[in-house]
Amino acid sequence: MADVTPWRRCSACKKPIALGAVYWVCNVSTCNQKRTALAFCTLHCWEVHLPGANHREAWAVERRAPAAPEPGAAAASEPRGTRRIVVSAPAKKPDPALAEVLIVASRLKDYVRARSGYNTSDRVLEPLSEIVRRVVDQAIENARREGRMTVLDRDVPDV
Ligand SMILES: [Zn+2]
Ligand SMILES: [Zn+2]
Repeated sequence: MADVTPWRRCSACKKPIALGAVYWVCNVSTCNQKRTALAFCTLHCWEVHLPGANHREAWAVERRAPAAPEPGAAAASEPRGTRRIVVSAPAKKPDPALAEVLIVASRLKDYVRARSGYNTSDRVLEPLSEIVRRVVDQAIENARREGRMTVLDRDVPDV
């Protein structure tokens, strides 16, 4: 793997995660803070962090590393205590629809309440949307494989 430009290192085994490679993140927000953002080279490495992390409920989310080095990567070494104003780079602004919450909050909350009487944090909408995106991406792939440009119910995989 010596000729592969690493994007960053696995938070568990410290092996490099190559640019453009698939990696895994934890759905739990404390594992995704700007400063500590964990990334894992395999699902196994994600499991490794669980005992110490003490999550009540957690799952891994598949991500893909950027194909080219991030221009802002050098900023990580800035001195402590610097006020940071985060501005998204206009050069590679992703389509906002690709990161949008896909879950109807009120319906989800009604469901959880009817099911259990519990409340639901708004923060669950994001990881749930991520799961929907992942499943829908597979459905799109299934439709494409059959030469269709319409995603049908039968394209949706069982999860
Ligand atoms: Zn690893
Ligand atoms: Zn975690």
